[in-house]
This record gives sequence, C-alpha cells and structure tokens, in this order.
Amino acid sequence: ENTLDIEQIRRDFPVLDQTVNGRPLVYFDNAATNQKPLPVIHALTRYYEGYNANIHRGIHHLAEQATAAFEASRRAVQSFLNAKHWEEIIFTYGTTDGINLVAQTYGRRFLGKGDEIIISTMEHHSNIVPWQMLCEERGCILKVIPVDDNGELILEEYEKLLSERTKFVSVVHVSNSLGTINPVKTIIDLAHGVGAVVLIDGAQASSHLELDVQALDTDFYVFSAHKLYGPTGMGVLYGKKEILDAMPPYRGGGEMIKEVTFEKTTYNDLPYKFEAGTPNIADVVAVKTALEYMAGLGKENIAAHEHDLLQYATEQLSELEGLRIIGQAKHKIGVISWVMDGIHHQDTGVILDQQGIAVRTGHHCCQPLMQRFGITGTTRASFAVYNTKDEVDRLVTGLRRVQKMML
Ligand code: PMP
Repeated sequence: ENTLDIEQIRRDFPVLDQTVNGRPLVYFDNAATNQKPLPVIHALTRYYEGYNANIHRGIHHLAEQATAAFEASRRAVQSFLNAKHWEEIIFTYGTTDGINLVAQTYGRRFLGKGDEIIISTMEHHSNIVPWQMLCEERGCILKVIPVDDNGELILEEYEKLLSERTKFVSVVHVSNSLGTINPVKTIIDLAHGVGAVVLIDGAQASSHLELDVQALDTDFYVFSAHKLYGPTGMGVLYGKKEILDAMPPYRGGGEMIKEVTFEKTTYNDLPYKFEAGTPNIADVVAVKTALEYMAGLGKENIAAHEHDLLQYATEQLSELEGLRIIGQAKHKIGVISWVMDGIHHQDTGVILDQQGIAVRTGHHCCQPLMQRFGITGTTRASFAVYNTKDEVDRLVTGLRRVQKMML
C-alpha cells in the first residue's frame, strides 16, 4: 500500500497547476523530462540571488561559497551512486554528452580496427550514433543484441556475440520507449568475462531504481539530471578511477589543465581533467536538492507508486479495442507505449493535447527498435511520482475520443 500523499506532493510542482486547452493539465511525458519541485527551483534562484560566482579559481567569498556548493553536489552524487571515490564523478551536460565523452576519449585511445563494440536494439540514438562515429573513424565493428517480442533483450544471443574480440559493451539500463528494465548486472558480468569494458546508460533508471555502481561493478554509468526532478543541461558520468585516469581529456580549455605553455600543456587531475570551461554551476548545485527531494520521498515509494499506475494503465488500456501495447517485459518502470489500429500516433498526440493531456509520440529516438517491431512510432505515457489514477482515467477517456474522431 502506498505511503505517499500525492496531493501534497503535487503542490511541490507549480507547473502542474494549470489548464491546457481549457482542461487541467495531465503531464505524462516524464520520460522525456520530468517536472521540477519547488525546492529545486528555489535552489536555482538562491544561487543566483545569493552567491553566483565562477568556481575553483576564485579567492573571494562568493567564489568560495559557489565552489563549496558545487563540490557538495559532487559528494551527493557520489553517495547517490555509491561510488568509491568522489573523483569518479564527472559533471557533463547530460547522458548524450557522457556517452560521447567516453566514445571520444576511451574509444579513440583504446579501440581500434576489428575491435567489437556491443550495443542493443533498444538503445536510444545517443547510445548508437557515438559508437557508429567511432567505428567509422577507427574501424571497429558494431554488434547488436536483439530484442524479443516482449521487448526484452535476448541474453542467449548476447552470449553468442561475446568473444575475445569484444572490447566494449554499452547498454541501456531502462528502455525509454518500452520501460523494460534490463538485467544489467548479468550483462556486465558476462562482458567482464571476456575482458570488455562496460557503459550503462542510466538516463531512465536514475529516478526509478536504486543504483549502486560498486555492486554492479560497471566501468561507466551515465545519466541526466533533468530526468530525476533536476535541471536540464546537466548530467553525470561515473567512471572507475583507474580507467578515467588512463583516458585522455575530452575538451581542451580552462580548468582541465595544470600548466599551459606554448610548448606543452599538462592536464589536471580527476575529475577536473574532464570538466573544461565554466560548467552549469547553478544546475549542478540544484542536483543535490533534487537528489534530496527524491530521497525524502523514498525512491522505493516513488517506484511503488509508479508501478501501481503502470499496472492500472496497462489494465485500462488493454480494454480499448484495436490498441496494442508495445513492450510487455516482466520488469518495467512506469512507461507504457502503444499503437492503435487505423490511427497514426501523431493524430493521437494532437487530439490528446486538445484535451490537456501531454504524451509523447513518434520513435522516441529509438528508430531501430521501432523497425524491430515493424512500426514507425508509438504513443507513450510515462509516469512520475505526482501522477494519479484519475489522470490515467483521463487518458483512457481521451483515447476513446481519439477513436471516435478518427475511426
Ligand atoms: N538514453 C536514454 C535511455 C534516454 O531516455 C535519453 C533521453 N530521452 C537519453 C539517453 C539522452 O539524454 P539527454 O537528452 O539528456 O542527453
């Protein structure tokens, strides 16, 4: 039984309290980005009103205050991921940025002709394209774990792909388009069995699952703050210290250096080696608040509530004639994707929006996965802590209206 007071929680999210096209907003696009609670918004304004300054090199009071808050956020993320060392937490601009960093530094330094990189059919484009770019440049070979009809990875096929040629495995923890939770611990252990290095894309996992990078023994883990009630344009790359130490820097510039002369530049220590330029200071600071907000509610309570909504939505949507749910994995987060006979997903999205219901339609940056299911896209509802069963009812009514208008 759920212990969260959802009505109380909704008051923390001012954006939810509005009408869209004359109807109370139903926000079901949380997998794209979720909404921000007042404490996070206040952390941002407190920073700009009280102690905005550039970090690390400043000697004055505000610079020291901003630096302390920035580094406190790093410690908060370290503890959120249960990383062994604070230097293993690199601030990035998001999941996409973190994956590109690894492909462009680890990849270009350590992967070469004939080396194999394994990804999966359900990857987001941001965990496909950086590896394709690397393969094109370095002559590596991309291998892809297939997905079954339920939207689960076929692990026997993964095992067949693994060999001494496998040098890197990069797989999504939770699918953004289907909600599937992948057995990443098994995937990581199997990869390590052949000596491959592993990256896990945690963009969708970070706000729903308990994370422990040491227990997982993953080499890299990436996520975006904006999917866990934090700001946009800010993310995290976790990497094992010895691997990060061996990697060349990514962007060159200020902060990432020890000493610069025109003859030679020496690079800074971790994590600063990978943090060139002035970062999103306010957003990094606010991430700590977002993590505290989630911890205050209890991640397991959030997950249980979203799971209730998923179950309810699955039951309700299954009753609609001609509606087919794509992705029926045993273990899912609160994401539900579907197609409807004779109705294009885009029309569905437009008609739902007319009723104040925000969903996402299309390929969800997973075109190869859509091709696997023989479709061009789906309509997707994705749940966060502030969503309710009444809102699911609104969706079902909305979809009946879509059918009435389109069929
Ligand atoms: N991977 C997954 C699974 C995602 O859901 C997303 C965001 N939709 C990304 C990567 C990319 O994240 P970002 O746009 O924040 O870089």
